[in-house]
Amino acid sequence: MRIDVFTLFPAMFLGPLQESILKRAQERGTLAIYLHQIRDYAFDRHQMTDDLPYGGGQGMVMRPEPIFRAVQSVIGAAPTPIVLLSPQGRQFTQAIARDLAQEPRLAFICGHYEGIDERVREHLVTDELSIGDYVLTGGELAAMVVIDAVARFVPGVLGADEGAEDDSYASGLLEGPQYTRPATFGPWEVPAILRSGNHAAVARWQRRMALKRTLERRPDLLQQATLSDEDGRTLTEISADLTEPDAG
Ligand code: SAM
Repeated sequence: MRIDVFTLFPAMFLGPLQESILKRAQERGTLAIYLHQIRDYAFDRHQMTDDLPYGGGQGMVMRPEPIFRAVQSVIGAAPTPIVLLSPQGRQFTQAIARDLAQEPRLAFICGHYEGIDERVREHLVTDELSIGDYVLTGGELAAMVVIDAVARFVPGVLGADEGAEDDSYASGLLEGPQYTRPATFGPWEVPAILRSGNHAAVARWQRRMALKRTLERRPDLLQQATLSDEDGRTLTEISADLTEPDAG
């Protein structure tokens, strides 16, 4: 996958893109990420990329011309979703990450200051994503979050033993608890079933724990999750356990 990022602050990306899984994916050629400085596409000799808002108001607004120029010269006619990071966009989810990972190319525009001239949103952008109901100083951190989550679904980015399919949200549920060595840490033991070697029993336990955790923490997710009849029975049992008053 090729990703083009348009930003006034490309250096913000260098740390996150040069570590761990994203670094490895770029070294392997599975992911190619290009950072474009919007200022390089400014028309005037002062390379102005922002200006006062019409109608008054606080702060500065990013001008449309350098952004149009940057995106049009880099993307050209290549069919590419052009995503504006915005607190007003649709809420980014794991399902959107999976969908975006199907695209051969993606482009991200990072706003800054008070935001971006509306004509960019209306006539250049094809999608707007928010990473949550709060306001960041710029779209750079949001773009990094989206790129990281999308990259995990690009074939070859995660190793064979690091699949995204067991993760929280992948099946519509939160993932259950996980343990590693040592089996005994102080007074705390890893549940015996995980050490039993009985794969079917382990899978049943993990499914039960995922259902329990989702019911406890994010019951809203259960409305959308694909659940079997056995899941339904398990949830009834778990709900009964959770609502049962303490004995004595
Ligand atoms: N004045 C804008 C508003 O009220 O909608 C907020 C501008 S914000 C300070 C500057 C930039 O940060 C935005 O243009 C956007 O690119 C980015 N941004 C802020 N919060 C975001 C969020 N929750 N998700 C994605 N991008 C965000």
